Amino acid sequence: MHPHLACFNPACRARFDINQVIYNCPNCGGLLEAQYDFRGAEPAAWKKTWRERRMDNSPLSQSGVWRYRELFPFLEDTMQVTTLREGNTPILNAPLAAQYGGLTRIAFKHQGFNPTGSFKDNGMTAGAAQARSLGMKRVACVSTGNTSASMAAYASAGGLAPLIFIPHGNISYGKLAQALEYGAKTFQVEANFDQILALVRVLAERLGIYLLNSINPFRIEGQKSIVIEMMDQRNWHVPDWIVLPGGNLGNVSAFGKGLREMKQVGLIDKLPRLAVVQAEGSSPFYEYMTEGVGKTGFRAQTNPETLATAIKIGDPVSWPKAQFEIETTNGIVERATEQEIADAKAVIGRCGIGCEPASAASLAGIRKLTAAGVIDRDADVVAVLTGNVLKDPDYIFKYHTGQLRAPNDTPINATFGNKPIMAPNDADKLAELIG
Ligand SMILES: *Cc1c(COP(=O)(O)O)cnc(C)c1O
Ligand SMILES: [Zn+2]
Repeated sequence: MHPHLACFNPACRARFDINQVIYNCPNCGGLLEAQYDFRGAEPAAWKKTWRERRMDNSPLSQSGVWRYRELFPFLEDTMQVTTLREGNTPILNAPLAAQYGGLTRIAFKHQGFNPTGSFKDNGMTAGAAQARSLGMKRVACVSTGNTSASMAAYASAGGLAPLIFIPHGNISYGKLAQALEYGAKTFQVEANFDQILALVRVLAERLGIYLLNSINPFRIEGQKSIVIEMMDQRNWHVPDWIVLPGGNLGNVSAFGKGLREMKQVGLIDKLPRLAVVQAEGSSPFYEYMTEGVGKTGFRAQTNPETLATAIKIGDPVSWPKAQFEIETTNGIVERATEQEIADAKAVIGRCGIGCEPASAASLAGIRKLTAAGVIDRDADVVAVLTGNVLKDPDYIFKYHTGQLRAPNDTPINATFGNKPIMAPNDADKLAELIG
């Protein structure tokens, strides 16, 4: 059985050639996922090979994604891979953050150490490889965030032309700046996100452009490497919990799939529990999982609001997959306020680690889940930090100087504020100020 694409809808499960250019099931519109025949899996041999590749200087072995390619064998030819040495991200201990989160210990898997500063690189190297494998010349996404920064880098590095479409007047400058620098042709369209997505789908078909939006199943395949690498770094010792922020819910879908497949082939002996944390002002999945399942069904949010722009998503495309993975791992969905996210972020900063606002939702959620007794204080918890501290310097400066305001204009308290101090040109006065 060759690798193939399968419809995720349990009532359909239609199968398609792995190289068919489709983003949804042509029969029912369901999400697609890559499936493989793992019957020949050799977990012990794979573990050894993956360790040896860390010592090997070839670009494919040095990639913290492609090193683990046996678990996502969708490419016929690895010559199509473009790598920027993505993955290879550290697991960091942070006693101060553990204490804040109500835990005896915590480990952060920091995906902000990636080439463009977010976990999107783990998925984008895979999506871009599939684009090249299909013979595509241009790739596109609708995003102003980390997806466009990552897509621009991987497309340009691999000789593909990156096209970015953004709603007019809705720009996140730091991340857009990366996309411009990496050479993406960027269109500000006078329409909203959904209208632009519809336009881009028409254009993709007409002009043979490959879509690398969050719905692309090959990006999910690449993002599985985050949990594979995590287990390798932990000598295949499974934690009790893995906690991550959720926006479009692609990452939790990737984690769940990666973990299930690792268990299926015998690389790990159990599944950790997955906890997804959303921002309160943008929490349709939290609402669905806490009161909507079996009742109202999934309800998109029309005006999501949060300063954590990477998780400001009202209509997350991957929610059916995310629901399945949360249920399969006996996981949970939590939400955190703007104040809780901001304070958790400052604590992660104080640990000398730092992250972008969306990433800090994980620690903010952990604090609530330990207080509620859902996560045990002695539990073995890995929290995933999704993006780099420098993605959003404006937020940081405003927080520490007491000027940060939530989208509804409520001031955010600088609980752990650290203002620059005005000082005169005077050694004695400075000595006094230094204390
Ligand atoms: C994309 C992104 C998220 C959200 O991930 P989803 O897969 O959309 O749930 C969280 N944090 C950062 C920094 C991101 O770039
Ligand atoms: Zn289907």
